[in-house]
Amino acid sequence: MNFQDYLKSSKGSILSFYFWYSLYAINEKTINKPSVETYIWEFLKCDIFYIDGKCQKSGNCCKKLMLVKNGITLNTKEKFETIRKKDKKYDRFVPNYQNASKIKNFSCTCITPQNICSDYKGRPTLCKSYPFSIFIKDDKIPNTCGYYINIKTKVPKIRNASILKKIDNIIKNNNRCRILEEEL
Ligand code: SF4
Ligand code: SF4
Repeated sequence: MNFQDYLKSSKGSILSFYFWYSLYAINEKTINKPSVETYIWEFLKCDIFYIDGKCQKSGNCCKKLMLVKNGITLNTKEKFETIRKKDKKYDRFVPNYQNASKIKNFSCTCITPQNICSDYKGRPTLCKSYPFSIFIKDDKIPNTCGYYINIKTKVPKIRNASILKKIDNIIKNNNRCRILEEEL
């Protein structure tokens, strides 16, 4: 799954992005809702940035991981058990508890000592969409990953201050991003 496929499957067509962005750009004040801005930002950042690098088979993304399902972080026994009962793919994850009910992170029983997934074909969607998913959710990819965020040579003209700040933050927090400041 590539980045654009991931976005299209999760956010609808790129045409709808241009529709929403045009509306937002024309009338920032009346459509100044956080939900609309978040929606536009998720599309826009994929027009500005892309995922570079390659998997170094470190296994870091499979160790001490946190599970998120439908935007909900599975950080309690109850939340995790609800999902696990519905989806047997979650049986592979073993919660590590911070205290009696709070989950700190998960271990995966499918990671081999050679850092290979022993159920690569049957791995859950959250594994398939990494690191795109974390870029979409958090605007970053951990430095311990072989993938990193890079910037396209051509970037659209942006005038929205909040979005400019988000772009700036990605560049500042990602020291492997090749910056072409004159394009901004
Ligand atoms: S953390 Fe990144 S480099 Fe390491 S195994 Fe996962 S995707 Fe590959
Ligand atoms: S199922 Fe495979 S890809 Fe997913 S966390 Fe476990 S070892 Fe990693």
